[in-house]
Amino acid sequence: METLLDVLVRVQNRFHALGMRRKAVLSQLPLNVTLLLVAVVLLFVDPRTLSAPAFVVGQAIALALLGLCAVVPWHRLPAWAVLAIPLLDFAPLALLRPGAGGVISGLGLLGVFPVIWLSGSGYRPRLTVALSALASLLMVWLPLLALGAAEPHSLVSEIVVPFMLVAVAVSIAVLTMSGMAQQRRVEELLARSETRQRLLDTILDTVDVGVLLLDRDGKDVFMNTKQRQLYLASVPPGATEVDESELLVYRDGSDQPLGHEERPVARAVAGDTMTREVFRLGRGPESRTVSISAREFRDAAGERAGTVLACSDVTEVIAAVRARDSFLAAMSHEFRTPLTSLLGYAELLQDDPSLSPSAVSDLQVMSRNARHLRKMVDDILAASVEGSAPDLPRVRLDLSRLVQQAADSAAPDAEAREIALTVEADGELPILGDRSAVARILDNLISNALKYSDEGTKVTLTLEREGNWAVCSVADEGFGIAPEDLTRVFTRFQRGDAALRSGVPGTGLGLALAQEVAELLGGGLEVTSQLGVGSVFTLRLPLAGQNEG
Ligand code: ADP
Repeated sequence: METLLDVLVRVQNRFHALGMRRKAVLSQLPLNVTLLLVAVVLLFVDPRTLSAPAFVVGQAIALALLGLCAVVPWHRLPAWAVLAIPLLDFAPLALLRPGAGGVISGLGLLGVFPVIWLSGSGYRPRLTVALSALASLLMVWLPLLALGAAEPHSLVSEIVVPFMLVAVAVSIAVLTMSGMAQQRRVEELLARSETRQRLLDTILDTVDVGVLLLDRDGKDVFMNTKQRQLYLASVPPGATEVDESELLVYRDGSDQPLGHEERPVARAVAGDTMTREVFRLGRGPESRTVSISAREFRDAAGERAGTVLACSDVTEVIAAVRARDSFLAAMSHEFRTPLTSLLGYAELLQDDPSLSPSAVSDLQVMSRNARHLRKMVDDILAASVEGSAPDLPRVRLDLSRLVQQAADSAAPDAEAREIALTVEADGELPILGDRSAVARILDNLISNALKYSDEGTKVTLTLEREGNWAVCSVADEGFGIAPEDLTRVFTRFQRGDAALRSGVPGTGLGLALAQEVAELLGGGLEVTSQLGVGSVFTLRLPLAGQNEG
């Protein structure tokens, strides 16, 4: 229901929207109407007063001022010009008071109308208050002077009305000024919020991410240009008007459209938070793969106000990653099969007693290089598979045994390079993991330690328990790693400067994969190293409990 305050605010808003002329007439009208009522009352009470010249002239001036309000083109004059009317309003009041005042007391209080007009105009408040004071004094004193009755006590006896009108003028001026200041502030805030809104709109239409804003009932409130394109991709071919439930939305890799509850929009409306979940929109070559995140947002009072969905088009990225993985996998297989056969035959040949020692030595070089090549191919193969198969099987293993086995198989290499490879183990270290994955990490760390060390140095494998961790450290006395390379060595295809300069072949994949696998198993892989002194790689895996595995 509309309250009185609402009505007043509405009327005030309408008043501000009016032209200068109408505003002037409406400001003048209350005085004229009141004077008319006074005339009507006098008609019944004391008709003689109506014909008194002062009364007639007073009413005529008041009407003339109303006429002026209506005919003067105020919009062509300066804004303050219209204030002449309320000032002149004191003249009819001065004329009417002595005659009619004997019958109706307090006519001077009608000065409140011009005072409100003057001090409520917002124009130079001090001046308008001073003018109000002066005009109301003149209104009460001039008639006394004209009648020759301007004695001190009669002048003082009239002073209450001007005092009261000044008090009204001051209050109205203060209220008007604070209202105007408030209005300026509101306008400033509005302008600022409009600028922000425009900035936001521009950002949303510039970014290459689809943004969809839903209210708390799930209705679309906003959709940027990119989101509109993505939406069109999910509309079934030939359809024009479609319901949300008819849009073609699939989980990536599935051809079965998602049920209503599993759809990203429905989930987001139900309050689900989503982080980079991948979906496919539409069918066939026009379909788009999108990564969707969703968050709900709350209003200033903390109430749930709606949901924002951000959709990135990852079609090209996914296609590129798939192409790279299948290329790597195909290439690795093509390499690996002939290599394994070469290696097998080279190792068989070494056992042939009819071969001369130099031929056996040549064969050993061939085998070593072929093994090297196979290790690189294995790394590439693992890199193309591991990222997409994060669920490693978990069985109970003894890390100490695995390390011993890895050391045994690296022994011939270490021997050939005259590097002393030793294992310092302290009993069983049970862990949960995938045997070949853990073995690959260990092989990698040991073969790196041998690869990046000079002949005649030492490589030490130490195994110990540290709280709930099984820890294996591989320490060498090799080239070491420069501080700026220390974090880079765990990034795919990144190799240290020292390794690149030494000419030792490699792919830069082994450590990245080793770290990924260690983290998948709940552990980690770290390195400390000093250039020219050596490196220590520390593999940390959670110890398995008594009953696990
Ligand atoms: P690759 O050995 O095939 O280059 P890795 O991922 O196994 O790839 O290693 C990445 C880089 O880390 C290496 O190129 C090398 O610069 C550095 N690195 C690894 N292990 C050692 C080590 N024991 N001593 C010195 N540098 C090492």
